[in-house]
Amino acid sequence: MRGKAYLIGAGPGRADLITVRGLNLLRQADVVIYDWLVAPLLLEQAAPAADLIFVGKSHDKHTLEQDAISDLIVSHVRAGRQVARLKGGDPSVFGHAGEEAMALAKAGLPFEIVPGVSSALAAPTYAGIPLTYRGISTAFAVVTGHETPGKVHSGTDWSALARIPTLVVLMGLQRVDTVCAALLAAGRLPETPAAIVSRATTSDQRVLRATLKTLPEALRHASLPTPAVLVIGEVVALSAQLDWFAPALAEVGFLPFDALSGRQA
Ligand code: SAH
Repeated sequence: MRGKAYLIGAGPGRADLITVRGLNLLRQADVVIYDWLVAPLLLEQAAPAADLIFVGKSHDKHTLEQDAISDLIVSHVRAGRQVARLKGGDPSVFGHAGEEAMALAKAGLPFEIVPGVSSALAAPTYAGIPLTYRGISTAFAVVTGHETPGKVHSGTDWSALARIPTLVVLMGLQRVDTVCAALLAAGRLPETPAAIVSRATTSDQRVLRATLKTLPEALRHASLPTPAVLVIGEVVALSAQLDWFAPALAEVGFLPFDALSGRQA
C-alpha cells in the first residue's frame, strides 16, 4: 500500500474533542507521531501494533528539530506506511503543519490535513467567553505571545492588534507583562476585561479574570500552569453569566462514541 501522512488536529486537551475523521485515521495508522499537548487517552486509540513516536516536550522547537520531525514523517511515508501526525488543537494554528506538508510536497508524497478544534477557540468557549457577540465584538484575532515588542524581527503589529475587539494570545503565559504593556501603550483601555485560561477543556482547567491593567499582578498571585491562553476584550466580562464548564465534574477524555462502527462503545 502506498504511504500517506495525515496531519491531524487532536483538539485542545479533552480527548473527545478530536474530530470523528481524525479519530478514524488515528485508529488506522501504522505510525503515530505526536507532541506534548496531545491527550494521553487519544494515544490509546491507536492500533495495538502501531508505532507511537513522541517528538516534542514543548511547542518551542528549534528549526533543526522541526526539520528532523519532517524528515521522520517523510521517511515513514516513503516506506509505505500510513502516518498519523497528531498535533494539539488545530495542526495549522502555530502547529507547523505548513512546514511538514511542505516537506511532504517537496518529496512528492501524499498528505492530508485534518483540522482540529484549536485551543484558540476552545479555551475561551470553555471559560464562558464568546469570541464574538452582537454589539460587543465583531472580530477576533489569534496571535502568538512570543513576538512581543523589543524582539528583533518581530512580525507582530501590536498597535493594530490593540484595535481588534477580541484578542486571543497563545504561548503568552511567560510574557503576560509585556503583552499587556504593549496593548496599553497602543491605547487599549486599562479597564478592558482580560482572562487567562489554563489547561482548558480538561479537569485541571483554571480561569483567572482581571483587567488589562491588573492581569500581570493577578497572575503573580495565582501562578497558573501551562498551557494557557490569554483572552482580552469586552466579551471576557460576559463569562460572569456564561461560565458553564465545571472542571471537577467533567468526564474528560471519555470517548463514549465508537466512531468507526457508529455505535456507543
Ligand atoms: N495548534 C495548537 C496551538 C499550538 S501552540 C492549537 O491549535 O491549539 C501551543 C499553545 O497553545 C500553548 O502555549 C497555549 O497557549 C495553547 N494551548 C494549547 N492547549 C491548550 C489548553 N488545553 N489550554 C490552554 N491553552 C492551550
